[in-house]
Amino acid sequence: MSILVSNFINGSVVESKSSRSADLYNPATGERRGQVQLSTAQEAEEVVQVAKNAQAAWQATPPLQRARVMFKFKQLLEENADDLATLITEEHGKVHSDALGELTRGLEVVEFSCGIPHLLKGEHSLNVGREIDSYSMMQPVGVCVGITPFNFPVMVPLWMIPVSLACGNSFILKPSEKDPSAALVLAKLLQQAGLPDGVFNVVQGDKEVVDALLESPDVAAVSFVGSTPIAEAIYAKGSANGKRVQALGGAKNHLVVMPDADLDGAVNAIMGAAYGAAGERCMAISVAVAVGDDTADRLVAKLKEKVEALRVGPGLGVTPENEMGPLVSEPHKNKVVEYIQSGVDQGAKLVVDGRNYDAGSPGYFVGGTLFDNVTEDMTIYKEEIFGPVLSVVRADDYQHAVNMINEHEFGNGTAIFTRDGDTARNFTEQIEIGMVGVNVPIPVPMAFHSFGGWKRSIFGPLNVHGNDGVRFYTRMKTVTARWPKGQRESEFVMPTMK
Ligand code: NAD
Repeated sequence: MSILVSNFINGSVVESKSSRSADLYNPATGERRGQVQLSTAQEAEEVVQVAKNAQAAWQATPPLQRARVMFKFKQLLEENADDLATLITEEHGKVHSDALGELTRGLEVVEFSCGIPHLLKGEHSLNVGREIDSYSMMQPVGVCVGITPFNFPVMVPLWMIPVSLACGNSFILKPSEKDPSAALVLAKLLQQAGLPDGVFNVVQGDKEVVDALLESPDVAAVSFVGSTPIAEAIYAKGSANGKRVQALGGAKNHLVVMPDADLDGAVNAIMGAAYGAAGERCMAISVAVAVGDDTADRLVAKLKEKVEALRVGPGLGVTPENEMGPLVSEPHKNKVVEYIQSGVDQGAKLVVDGRNYDAGSPGYFVGGTLFDNVTEDMTIYKEEIFGPVLSVVRADDYQHAVNMINEHEFGNGTAIFTRDGDTARNFTEQIEIGMVGVNVPIPVPMAFHSFGGWKRSIFGPLNVHGNDGVRFYTRMKTVTARWPKGQRESEFVMPTMK
């Protein structure tokens, strides 16, 4: 059965009138699932007007009532978790337990948003001058837009949607055209949770709708997550059009293994962080920096054994579950294979070759791949591969490892594995990266903290969710008020000037 994925506007699924569409595939089998419609610029503007019309009443709804919609939404997400995770696996390819993990991380942002009455309290000062009080209000910005990547079709939208809605905004989601179906499930669950029609809408499409949303005068704020070149372009265009923009980009995350680290613990951590979701995570570890040749030799030997034993195959219907699924599409698989060849051509040592891996299914599989002796001038070191390819770089000493990370153009996540508190403390202070792990391989901040990198991994001053998310989706207004005393008593004598 072929599916047609369309828009969700003003409380209903609405087919686009566009003549353009994109094919959808099951990455584990290579079979065509159906199509997603690529809406027109005019349809994007129509959605903006729907969202604009619905926003005023939603803003006037007390924060406590908005929070209750989020409570109900959380419950519905939990009740539908298994189906939603299955849908993620069918379109994205990641294994089912990993899809459930993605959903959990998204759910936590919904939980955070349930506390919105507290988060919107603002500040209040009595007597800033004699008999003058001052207080701040955090008011919604209006119509917000989210443009999201393929690799987390539920979690990344949930980084944005609950915070934005709870703050009193309306929201338009433009999901990735590679796995757009989950967005429609989120829309239906929000409706069931009691969200008024028009407050949340989904518009499917590509550059045409994104450009229209960035140009619409009625869009106030844009949250983007995706690759760095697109993030940079969206930030520039949205800002030039007077919008508030947060645009999160790509990554190259290094994990430093010190000579004193618990090596087995580090190897186990690296395996999940490098190969989970086939490396298609912006917080995946793609570079292991071994400090000293002895550490590197021991690390590579242990990793080789584990990478060769990785269970790679479909993410559904296999017991025990595979550890790693396919890549998202055939072009992406081909790109990853080209990167592996470039590593070989530029002189890295290919320890485990995942090309031509037989996963027992005709999908877009690349097996776990391990390189040793990778150097900083190689393409596989400099660029984000977004596949199951781990590069081991040998650092002369700790400072060499730190300098290498600080000089890299990306600054999303990093980690250090060591038993030495002083080294760990120095690392957290010196490293120029937004999210840092100490003996934790994927340091993704919890929902009540904020997520975001440094350098060319983010454009815009505010991170997503946590307090930064609330600041991004609200405008502060500060009131300074003096109330005249007025007349306290009636006077019965003839009034005279006093
Ligand atoms: P992508 O940049 O190709 O697409 C992201 C979104 O932008 C999609 O909705 C897509 O339709 C849209 N888009 C694509 N080209 C566009 C264009 N020319 N104009 C306007 N919109 C356009 O990214 P992807 O391949 O879907 O996702 C993978 C990338 O996302 C990786 O680089 C990964 O590191 C990054 N990512 C970053 C984070 C983070 O938090 N920093 C999180 C997840 C993914």
